[in-house]
Amino acid sequence: MSAEVQLTEIAEVLRKARSIAVLTGAGISAESGIPTFREAQTGLWAQYRAEDLATPDAFVRRPELVWDWYEWRRERVRAAQPNPGHYALAELQRRAPACSLITQNVDGLHQRAGATMVLELHGNILRNKCFDEDCVVDAVLSAMRPPRCPHCGGMVRPDVVWFGEPLPEDVLQHAMRAAQSCDVFLSIGTAALVHPAAQLPMSAAENGATLIEINRDATPLSSMARYSVRALAGEYLPRLVQSAWPEEA
Ligand code: NAD
Repeated sequence: MSAEVQLTEIAEVLRKARSIAVLTGAGISAESGIPTFREAQTGLWAQYRAEDLATPDAFVRRPELVWDWYEWRRERVRAAQPNPGHYALAELQRRAPACSLITQNVDGLHQRAGATMVLELHGNILRNKCFDEDCVVDAVLSAMRPPRCPHCGGMVRPDVVWFGEPLPEDVLQHAMRAAQSCDVFLSIGTAALVHPAAQLPMSAAENGATLIEINRDATPLSSMARYSVRALAGEYLPRLVQSAWPEEA
């Protein structure tokens, strides 16, 4: 099947869908200049692996180092802009009768592109919480690295899910329900390796949904998907949504 015929077919599937669930990963933000974990860290941070910094143990052992790494990542997130892939998914949400957007990303770029009710499985890097009490801390006033919680004086940490930590239960439940009840599931820019997020597309397929993958490289999901497209999300998604709803663009 040629790429154009495939795009037309996928557009038709989307247009006819009653309920769509979308799962995005770091790949959708790559074209906004936010590197994926599997791509090398740069500059000062090149000597560290994300897996060695994004853990509760690392924070307890070297809080200043972990805080500084997150400050560096936050600067990149604040400077980044949503790309055409983020905007196309916000448009998809407006066009489809129902469309849940589930993301493993912590950068908030979907919301900045206009997406609504985004299910953030791994939290949000721009939010903070108390390490001891687990409650959100709105304003960080102290200049300490990391700052201290205004309620209990404990250390403040980014409100993201670290390696070895459970996902927020309510968000995961919502995401599971969306995956199990949709008739079309789109997996975009995710290596589909990190569980339980990687279970969502499988669960959707088991419940009869049409599984569509859009990813730069092949993944463990590729052979399971009804359509597996090798493409850059920021280039492919706008064409797909335009092709599904041409008269409304
Ligand atoms: P990943 O790094 O494991 O995989 C990214 C996938 O996207 C790869 O398969 C790659 O081939 C693909 N890809 C890269 N550029 C692409 C593009 N332009 N278009 C389409 N596909 C592209 O990311 P993951 O599966 O999301 O899992 C890693 C974890 O890292 C997640 O839990 C996430 O929370 C975290 N993370 C988030 C951000 C962010 O918020 N932007 C950035 C880095 C890591």
